[in-house]
Amino acid sequence: MLPFKLIYDHGYDLHLGAHVSPSQKYRLVRETLLREGLADESDFISPAPAADEDVLRVHEPEYVHKLKTGTLNYLEILRMEVAYSEELINACWLGAGGSIEAGKRALADRCAVNIGGGFHHAFPDHGEGFCVIHDVAIAIRRLQFDGVIQTAMTVDTDVHQGNGTAAIFARDESVFTFSIHQENNYPYPKPPSDLDVNLPDGTDDGNYLAILEAHLVRAFEMLHPDLIFYIAGADPYREDQLGGLALTMEGLRRRDDMVFDHARRHGVPIAVTLAGGYARSVVDTVRIHVNTVLAARDAMFRQSARSTG
Ligand SMILES: [Zn+2]
Repeated sequence: MLPFKLIYDHGYDLHLGAHVSPSQKYRLVRETLLREGLADESDFISPAPAADEDVLRVHEPEYVHKLKTGTLNYLEILRMEVAYSEELINACWLGAGGSIEAGKRALADRCAVNIGGGFHHAFPDHGEGFCVIHDVAIAIRRLQFDGVIQTAMTVDTDVHQGNGTAAIFARDESVFTFSIHQENNYPYPKPPSDLDVNLPDGTDDGNYLAILEAHLVRAFEMLHPDLIFYIAGADPYREDQLGGLALTMEGLRRRDDMVFDHARRHGVPIAVTLAGGYARSVVDTVRIHVNTVLAARDAMFRQSARSTG
């Protein structure tokens, strides 16, 4: 049994078919955790879909209306780069509900992992880059509305810059946005986060981890948040089809350890979402996401060993 909850629903599957984004990966992450005895059924909880009023704290009413009524135009769908369907919309609302739940659970248990979410390219008025609505922003706004947090930090290690996150929180000092990503990659342009690290093509484990460590130190000097949302993309992996960095699976695991370790040292609860992952073999993408869950587990056990020892 894990020391925190995994949030998941079969409805997370975006039903994208033969798309570069393997939307069945959420189910595969769950199955792998269960099959290998790393988690049991009692570790999983199924979220309620986000309420429209939660979505509307981030997204413009006209855009939400178009999503719910299937009236996006051709160019708007093209920009999302995913086919429109009712299942897609249900999956996005569920994923956002999952991130809300992960935030709440993290505040109670120090950590929680949404086996989904991380749709960091969604903007208030449009979707792009496989992202329809911004689950992490929706969760932060909901938790602030509930008065359970005042401030939050997003730590985004997806290979692509978190442009939607940067835009949504651009003039908001209560949310500190940190993104470490490949410079020569989508999105163009990159609206500035509070802290952006633009990495050169082919950055390897050693360089990546040294740069991440230095910038996590800086981020926490700039804001000590009430809650961290960790957007743990699997696509900085060297075998990724849409990424140009050169991290190994071991390097990605050390990346996760580093993020959890900073959260623990600063005593800040951490909610995790998965985000991108387009490895040539979906098995690798799933393994990277499973490893993030294990890194969270190990960090929590280190924490309880410290507090009892
Ligand atoms: Zn990505």
